Amino acid sequence: MSLPPHWKEVGGEGRVHRVMESTLTARDRVGVQDFVLLENYTSEAAFIENLRRRFGEKLIYTYIGSVLVSVNPYKDLEIYSKAHMERYRGVSFYEISPHIYAVSDNTYRAMRTERRDQCILISGESGAGKTEASKKILQYYATTCPVTDHMSTIRDRLLQSNPVLEAFGNAKTLRNDNSSRFGKYMDVQFDFRGAPIGGHILNYLLEKSRVVHQNHGERNFHIFYQLLEGGEQDQLSKLGLERNAQKYHYLVKGCCPRVSSINDKSDWKTVRKALTVIGFHEEEVEDLLNIIASVLHLGNTQFGEGEDGETQITTEPQLTYLSKLLGVDGPALREALTHKKLTAKGEEVSPLSFEQAVAARDALAKAVYGRAFTWLVAKINQSLAFKDEVYNSSKGSSSVIGLLDIYGFEVFQHNSFEQFCINYCNEKLQQLFIKLTLKSEQEEYEAEGITWEPVKYFDNKIICDLVEEKHKGFISILDEECLRPGEPSDISFLEKLEDTLGGHAHFVTHKLANGKTRKAVGREEFRLIHYAGEVNYTVNGELANQSVNSRTAGSVICQSDNQILSQCFHREEVTTQKRPETAATQFKNSLAKLIEILMSKEPSYVRCIKPNDAKQSGRFDEALVRHQVKYLGLMENLRVRRAGFAYRRRYEAFLQRYKSLCPGTWPNWQGRLADGVATLVQHLGYKPEEYKLGKTKIFIRFPKTLFTTEDALEA
Ligand code: ATP
Ligand code: MG
Repeated sequence: MSLPPHWKEVGGEGRVHRVMESTLTARDRVGVQDFVLLENYTSEAAFIENLRRRFGEKLIYTYIGSVLVSVNPYKDLEIYSKAHMERYRGVSFYEISPHIYAVSDNTYRAMRTERRDQCILISGESGAGKTEASKKILQYYATTCPVTDHMSTIRDRLLQSNPVLEAFGNAKTLRNDNSSRFGKYMDVQFDFRGAPIGGHILNYLLEKSRVVHQNHGERNFHIFYQLLEGGEQDQLSKLGLERNAQKYHYLVKGCCPRVSSINDKSDWKTVRKALTVIGFHEEEVEDLLNIIASVLHLGNTQFGEGEDGETQITTEPQLTYLSKLLGVDGPALREALTHKKLTAKGEEVSPLSFEQAVAARDALAKAVYGRAFTWLVAKINQSLAFKDEVYNSSKGSSSVIGLLDIYGFEVFQHNSFEQFCINYCNEKLQQLFIKLTLKSEQEEYEAEGITWEPVKYFDNKIICDLVEEKHKGFISILDEECLRPGEPSDISFLEKLEDTLGGHAHFVTHKLANGKTRKAVGREEFRLIHYAGEVNYTVNGELANQSVNSRTAGSVICQSDNQILSQCFHREEVTTQKRPETAATQFKNSLAKLIEILMSKEPSYVRCIKPNDAKQSGRFDEALVRHQVKYLGLMENLRVRRAGFAYRRRYEAFLQRYKSLCPGTWPNWQGRLADGVATLVQHLGYKPEEYKLGKTKIFIRFPKTLFTTEDALEA
């Protein structure tokens, strides 16, 4: 069958998809492939209906201009084959159905032709498909970019870093069987030929509390179960472990040692192989396994009351294993778990109560695991580092594509410091998005010589300031309260917040101005009015959480024989009199660096949506989707993109597509492209208010104009 000139075979399995899915009949069935073509673009209902229709047709991708919206299909669609990758190579956005490969390819080409660093920002709530999207992008580059033998090593390492980081940083949660419990930014570096030559990963805020506690139906990090299921018997014996997750307190809190969608045993094999590909030495792997096992033994370390009334360890075998695995002196470890040092040098100690000993044990487990994770990232980075002498190519001429896979906006029944950080991070990314989107819209209009009409939008800078402003922002107040002498408490912190931020339009506590109590906010809570909605945060334990440096335990671990641990815990840290930075300040600083990195690059966006809470394919829960459309700021995004013109296309592409509609431009226009387009639209009867002609592109204000033209092609 020969296809009309404006049709092109792009679908899989021999199906013919329209290149432009917006023709009349297709539009009714599958919606529009770009939301800017929605007639009623301010209507959330129309937006969701379009998503729903497309989802029903297994079209999980839709654009808002150049932003890709993706709905998790919860099943393997046959749209990720090598043949699909090939179809998207060198093809421009609008010639082919929306796809994550289109974003990958366009970003890659922009990097190569414009020689500008790029980044792809992937956002969405837990389970929406961010990590899968970032893996698909990486696979696209690994498959389609040119590589030589040397480079294939880097390519393999880039790919293999995923299973390792997922083993240590992902876990089964209620919302996602493979939930990333850390934020990740990964740079892939390409040489002047466009071949991958290096990479670098930055990690953010690992959810360390999971090491010692999991909610019902959730698990600890995958690696623990993988080791127990997949580790060889003599290996487990050496580590003093039994092949039974039920035996370990830190693994049973969620009552969910097995997950049907996960095969821990085969995942263990994948991870072991990946560690080898990345270049871990056997001794390093051994040190790493010792750390994992020591965390499990820590969890099984119990306390009781001795004859003298002091807290003591009642599980001696655990202590023996612990001192062996952690490579530290047994008596010193015993003391660190049951006593507190009163001075930095540790000459004076006082016994811990039972509860304090349990807390010290858990703090040690979290610190050891958290730092081992940081070490792991650093080690992967060493192996991905660009090595000039190997590739014999100059670093100066290389460019970078960054991939950001970071937690989306979170609201739970109880929101703590972790949600606060995550939502603050989302405010910062929204701020970046606003700045860059408006800037690029404005730049395009200016470049094309079209008057820029300012767009009204909600600028969330006011919320970012509320959190991070010097001296009077949330984090400054938290720092001050943590570092002040005396007995700072959660309540004194909350009072200080009220004193400084009370009256701010985005900060609310239970106190009303008229002296009455606001019921919706608890006494130990404050509420922030985020750009995406209101969230109540509990300050319970806020101050205790800030201590990122457990001095007593740290002083023992820094003397460890385990090479990883001795690199992770430094002696100076525990002997210094200076108070360490709080976790909040550390996070703020790392975010500021991230924003700086992203600002220096040209961004593309992927917004992921979860269609239902049951992890089921084919189910589209409208209320849930509506919620995400709001939190992702998609309507705002569409409004900004549609503020001026719904549609813009380069002259040659426009002419090529529609020239058959006008005798003056058919079969070939010989003159200037702009004149050809002018002739064409005049013939089609476009009214002056419907379009503008820029230097290289036509801008069309309303989708209707375009649809009429599209329909004329059909006729
Ligand atoms: P979290 O914030 O919890 O890390 P996430 O946004 O990274 O969540 P993913 O782990 O990427 O979510 O996706 C969750 C699950 O959804 C995957 O394990 C996979 O089963 C399914 N999934 C996501 N994207 C796709 C896709 N494009 N095709 C098929 N299945 C998908
Ligand atoms: Mg993830």
